[in-house]
Amino acid sequence: NHVPLSPISFLLRAARIYPHRTAVVHGARRYTYAEMAERSRRLASALRRAGVGAGDVVAIMAPNTPEMLEAHYGVPMAGAVLLTINIRLDGPAIGFILRHSKAKFLLVDREFTKVVRGAVPEGLPVVDIVDSEAPAGEPLSDQDYEAFLAGGDPAAAIHTPADEWEAISLSYTSGTTGNPKGVVAHHRGAYLNATANALAFTLTPRSVYLWTLPMFHCNGWTYTWAVTLQGGTHVCLRRVEPGAIFAAIAEHGVTHMCAAPIVLTLLIHAPEEQKRRFDHAVAIATGGAAPPSPVIAQMEAMGFSVTHLYGLTECYGPATICLWQPGLDEMPLDAKAAFMARQGVNHPMLEEAAVLDAATMVPVPMDGRTLGEVMLRGNTVMKGYLRNPDANEAAFAGGWFHTGDLGVMHPDGYIEVKDRAKDIVISGGENISTLEVEEVLYAHPGIMEAAVVAEPDGKWGEVPHAFVTPKPGGPPPSEAEVIAWCRGRLAHFKCPKRVSFGPLPKTSTGKIQKFELRGRLRPV
Ligand code: ATP
Repeated sequence: NHVPLSPISFLLRAARIYPHRTAVVHGARRYTYAEMAERSRRLASALRRAGVGAGDVVAIMAPNTPEMLEAHYGVPMAGAVLLTINIRLDGPAIGFILRHSKAKFLLVDREFTKVVRGAVPEGLPVVDIVDSEAPAGEPLSDQDYEAFLAGGDPAAAIHTPADEWEAISLSYTSGTTGNPKGVVAHHRGAYLNATANALAFTLTPRSVYLWTLPMFHCNGWTYTWAVTLQGGTHVCLRRVEPGAIFAAIAEHGVTHMCAAPIVLTLLIHAPEEQKRRFDHAVAIATGGAAPPSPVIAQMEAMGFSVTHLYGLTECYGPATICLWQPGLDEMPLDAKAAFMARQGVNHPMLEEAAVLDAATMVPVPMDGRTLGEVMLRGNTVMKGYLRNPDANEAAFAGGWFHTGDLGVMHPDGYIEVKDRAKDIVISGGENISTLEVEEVLYAHPGIMEAAVVAEPDGKWGEVPHAFVTPKPGGPPPSEAEVIAWCRGRLAHFKCPKRVSFGPLPKTSTGKIQKFELRGRLRPV
């Protein structure tokens, strides 16, 4: 009587239990669970009729819209694998991904038809998604998504995976070092990770979830499924701007959202006229990059309840979370924020997280000082990269998944991420966690954002260089002031030797592009 685990069941179940509940809101558009299920079933049938077969890859390039959600169900319902493409990519990168994945079908939002045009391999069928909430955009195909759906039969049989290890979706890492790698997610892992996240983030049928992280990113893999699992409501935003976020929270009664630390910073520094009052509880899970504790504290002071996630594409998105602890609610705000900021990796959603010496695979001592690599093991880790045996061998050496992040184990057992291996600064043989220096910079009253990177140095090998965006409105601090601020709070060798001022480059998921900043410091 075994039924293979598959997130497809979440939508079918929600449509049975809550047919009239709002599944998704997007501007003036709104679909109930019955409608979302019908549209997803139509999509599955239409794809089949268009020749998409079991195991074929169906690509989508779209912002956070109902069509993205439908694709998360409709494509696997056709037995196909959903490939979500990063909407910030350029033509050559899109072309590489479409060819490497051997995509058989492409759904593209009209906003991106221009960039996709030259990248579509010969013969790849394309359907344009025309969103009434967006500017018209240039047509790429004469097939329109709504007309395509109309050609699908909502009563047609839907695919059930015979094996829960069947692939459900595919997402490419950003490829900052070499070609992007395709991360394959399976029905089983997606089901388990969504279930674990729904529990850990206390999603319920009453939850209203606001999308600020892009659904194309691994986080989409989790919450597209986790919110639906509970029959909660998805609120989509085409543009992630503070005014729109505050408005959505107030108008739709948003209860939950996940957001990169940068979005928290935007909300904190939003102009007063954009800040809307809300009287209900709003839980924010932040992650994707380290959230500085002053940012968490300011969000809590604004009435949000913040928790901290750590995750990566290879683990279906959020893999660990800072769980509530007895005594946490009684802590002073700063202490609570510091606890949250450091303990993001403490509780794996499922199974195991550890800090191991990558050479010996032995756990590092629990001294809070010795650096090792953060490693994960269990059911919510990907099975592997697509057609990339070398990367798979390296990623799973010794039976654990190597995250590429460095961390320490504290005496009471909690894991603290110190830095990405490629970001840590090594100065005179000493390791400097750039996150630790940034935490101090974010506490400066005149600093809105900060990133520390290694600057080549003739004497020390590397020295920390701080890139800083001053807070709007006030007088910007000088380089000497910033350095003095750090000297008062950090060991001398950890303090930035130089400071640059200006806006910081970001990825589509709101991460600061440190490799770009490092490039600016390379001697020419
Ligand atoms: P790519 O691998 O494609 O170059 P990426 O490393 O940003 O990009 P993602 O899977 O999006 O890929 O992000 C995972 C990484 O993000 C983690 O390995 C870690 O370095 C960082 N990260 C995620 N959450 C946190 C967190 N809470 N604290 C610190 N770092 C985090």
